[in-house]
Amino acid sequence: MFELKDDKTLGDPALRSCPHCSDKMLKWYTKPEMSWGTPYQYVCFNDECDYYVRHWEHFQTNYNKRASVRHRYNPFEDSSGPVPVWSDDALRPDIIGDDETIDDFLRRRGSLK
Ligand SMILES: [Zn+2]
Repeated sequence: MFELKDDKTLGDPALRSCPHCSDKMLKWYTKPEMSWGTPYQYVCFNDECDYYVRHWEHFQTNYNKRASVRHRYNPFEDSSGPVPVWSDDALRPDIIGDDETIDDFLRRRGSLK
């Protein structure tokens, strides 16, 4: 399993800012059933982010679909890419607070045994 204690040193801290809007990305809990293979990743939740705004138009124009993607950074593999969303609020319930551990987060969500 992942070593979570020292997670501040994981990956490149410089990459935790969105390359599209330079906003600080937020820690996002990756549900086990989504098979990301990570406990969390970083996601840009800026609704004005160029990348995010541009993809609403892209999916609407090319697929007539209401969807977009947010920029995502995986500190465990030092890789980044898109995460699909279907509304401004999607994924937001899975944001882990700055000073919150995964356990704190899960307890807050009421899903820890
Ligand atoms: Zn951004």
